[in-house]
Amino acid sequence: MAESNQSSIVSQRPIVVVSNRLPFSFQRTTKGIESRPSPGGLVSALGPVLRKRGGTWIGWPGIEIREGEQISPRGEAYRISPVLLSDMEINRYYHGLSNRTLWPMMHSMPGRARFDHREWDTYVRVNQRFAEVAVAEAAEAGLIWVHDYQLMLTPTWIRQAMPDKRLAFFIHIPFPPYDVFRVLPWDRELLRGLLACDLIGFHVRSYAQNFLDCVERSLGARVDREALLVEYGDRTTRVGAFPLGIEFALFESLASEAPKARPAEHKTILGVDRLDYTKGIPERFHAFERLLERYPQHREKVVLLQIAVPSRSQVAEYRALKREIDEIVGNVNGRFATADWSPIRYLYRSFSQQRLAAAYRDADVGLVTPLRDGMNLVAKEFVACQVDDPGVLILSRLAGAADTMREALLVNPVDIDGTAEAIHRALTMSEEERISRSSALRRREQRDNVDAWVDSFLRSAVGARASLSPFTDKDFSAWLSDFIESYRLALFLDYDGTLCPLQDHPSQARLTPRMRRALDACAERDDTDVAIISGRALRDVRSIVGNERLSYAGNHGLEMSGPGMPDFTHEDLVHYRVRAEELAEDLKELSVDGAWIEAKGPTLTYHYRPVPDNLRRALVERAHEIINQAGYQACDAQCAVEARPPIGWDKGRAVLHVLRTRYGPSWSESIRVVYVGDDQTDEDAFRFLAGLAMTFRVGSADTPTAAGRRLPDVDAVRALLTWLGRR
Ligand code: UDP
Repeated sequence: MAESNQSSIVSQRPIVVVSNRLPFSFQRTTKGIESRPSPGGLVSALGPVLRKRGGTWIGWPGIEIREGEQISPRGEAYRISPVLLSDMEINRYYHGLSNRTLWPMMHSMPGRARFDHREWDTYVRVNQRFAEVAVAEAAEAGLIWVHDYQLMLTPTWIRQAMPDKRLAFFIHIPFPPYDVFRVLPWDRELLRGLLACDLIGFHVRSYAQNFLDCVERSLGARVDREALLVEYGDRTTRVGAFPLGIEFALFESLASEAPKARPAEHKTILGVDRLDYTKGIPERFHAFERLLERYPQHREKVVLLQIAVPSRSQVAEYRALKREIDEIVGNVNGRFATADWSPIRYLYRSFSQQRLAAAYRDADVGLVTPLRDGMNLVAKEFVACQVDDPGVLILSRLAGAADTMREALLVNPVDIDGTAEAIHRALTMSEEERISRSSALRRREQRDNVDAWVDSFLRSAVGARASLSPFTDKDFSAWLSDFIESYRLALFLDYDGTLCPLQDHPSQARLTPRMRRALDACAERDDTDVAIISGRALRDVRSIVGNERLSYAGNHGLEMSGPGMPDFTHEDLVHYRVRAEELAEDLKELSVDGAWIEAKGPTLTYHYRPVPDNLRRALVERAHEIINQAGYQACDAQCAVEARPPIGWDKGRAVLHVLRTRYGPSWSESIRVVYVGDDQTDEDAFRFLAGLAMTFRVGSADTPTAAGRRLPDVDAVRALLTWLGRR
C-alpha cells in the first residue's frame, strides 16, 4: 500500500495515550472511588481527539486500588485503563528514579541527582508494565503515544510486541546536553528505549539537537541534523520540535469574566510556580530585594505576589527548598516592610484556573524566572490573560518558552542584578511598548495553542515513515579515518546476516557479485587482512566464500585456517565429534514442520525458521533440554539453537588467538581491528574488543549490543567494505 494512503488510514484509527498519570484524580469515599477530571491543557487537548477517534488512556490512577474496586470515570467516551502500582513501586519508580534522578538530570542539575540501582530496577519493571497494558489495548490503534520522562523505556516492549505499530513519544521537560546526560548510569538504555519510537517530540529544537548528540556519541547511531533523523540499526526515528501551547481561549475568557477587584494600592509583580528547585524562586526573591535596594522609589509601591504550589513534598530536597524560601521571605519582609506594606506576599497553596486567570490579569508584571524549564506554561497563561491594560512578561532565557516568546523581557535568572534591572524596566515601561509587546505575544499564543500542538504532533506521528539517505564515504571517513590512519587493518567479518541476508536455508545464503567485489577489493590490499568468522563448519564457510587470500574461522572459531598462521583446531574438539553425532540422533524427534539439523562436525545447529510461530516455543525449549542433557551448551541464534561444546571458547577468544598468532602479543600497537557481525555469538567478540577495535552490529535495533556502532543491513556492510577497499 502506498505510504501516504497508509498514513491517512493510520490517522483515522483509534489512539492509545500512555502517561504516568491518568487524566483524572481519584478519591476513595464511602460510596467507592470517585473521579474528577484533572485540569490541564494536555488533558483537554487530547480528550476531544480520543473521543472522536476512539482509544484508550493508560496511566497510574494516583492511589492504590484494591481488589475488586472499579475506577471507570463516568461520562468519558474513551476507555481508561489503569496501571496499578504498589506503594513500594511508586516510591522507587516515581518519587525515586523519576523525580530524584531523571528530573534533576534532565534539567541539567546533576548535583541534585542520586543514583540507586534498586530504583532503576523498579523503573524498568514499571515501564514494562505500562508497555504490557498498552499492548493489550492497542490492537486496533493507529498510534500509541507515550508521554514523558517517567516512561522512557516503555517503547522498548511495545516495539517488541508490535514491530509495525506507529509509536510516538513526547518529552515534556528539557533534554540536556550530552555531557550531562551521559552522567546517568543508564543513559544508553534510556536512549535505546526512546529510539524504539517512530517519532520523538521535544519542546524546542535545542533539546532535539541534544538528543541527537547523545545518540550519536553514546550509542554510535547515525544522525542527520538537517532532516532531524536518527538511524539506529534497522530503524529510523524522526525527532522534532513541537512547542507546547495552552488553552488560549479558555484563559482569555476566564480573565475577561473574572470579577474585577477594586483598584490596587500597589503595583503587583506576580510569580506562579510549583515549589520546585528548577523554578528559581530564591533567585527571584533576591532579584526583587536588589530592586528595592537600588530603586527605593518602588518601596511601598510594589508587591511581589508569589503563588507556590506544594509539590513532591515526599522528596527531602523539596522540603529543604520550602524552608529556604520561608527564610528568604522572612528576611526580605523583615528588612523592608512598613506598617502598611509588606514587599512579598507569599501563598503556599494551589489556585483554581479562575483565580489564577484573575491574578494574571491584574498583575503589572509576570515574573517567570526558572533556572531551567522544558517550556513553562505560566508565561503563556499570563500572556493570554492580558485582556485589559497589558502587563509586562519577564521571562527566563533558560525556559523553553523563551525560544518563541521573544517579545518578553528576557533575563538570565542567576543574574540577580540583571533581573532587578529588568523588573525596574518593566515597572516603568510606557503603555505603547507594553501594548506592542503584549499583542505580539498574544497573537502567537492564540495561534500556536494546545490544539495546534496536538494537530502538528499527530500529523507528524502518522506521516510517511522516514529513512536516512544511504551511507556515503563521508560517513565512514568520519567514523574510521582517524582510527585506522596508516595502520595495517585486521578486518573480521561474520558471514550469515552480515555479508549476505539470512535465508530459510544456509545453502541459499550466497554473496552477491557486488559484495564479492567489495570483499575482494579489501582482500587484495597489502595493508589489510580479512578473516571470515562464522558459526558454520570451517569447510563450509571457506568453500562458500572461496577466496584463498582470506582467513576462515568455522564453528565460532573452534577451527581456523588462513595465511600467516598455522591451522588451528581446538584441542578438546576430538572428544565432541562422536557426541555430536549422538546428539543429532537425539534431536531428530524435533525435525518436524520443516525444522532440521545442520551437522558441523563437533558441533551442530538446530534450525527452526520454517516452523510456524505458534509451534516454535515448545520446540526451542525441548531443544535446549536435549542439548544441555548431552553436555553441550544450548545458545539461541537467529531462528536456530546452537549446540556448542562447553569449553570456554567463543568468537572473542578466537579473534584474540588470530591477533596474537599473526601479529604478536603487542598486536594492538601495530594494527587496527574492525569487526562486523549481526549475531548474538558476535557479542563475545564485541565485548572482548571494546576499546580495542571498531565494532559494528548489523540489523535489528532491538537487541542490546556491546558493539560501538550499528549498521542497518547487508547493503550498509557492503558500503563499508567498499570504502575500506579503496580508502
Ligand atoms: N497551576 C495551577 N494552579 C496553581 C498554580 C499553577 O493549576 O495554583 C498550573 C498553571 O496554570 C500551569 C501549570 O500549573 O498550567 C504549571 O505549568 P508550567 O509549565 O509553568 O510548570 P510545571 O509545573 O509543569 O513545571
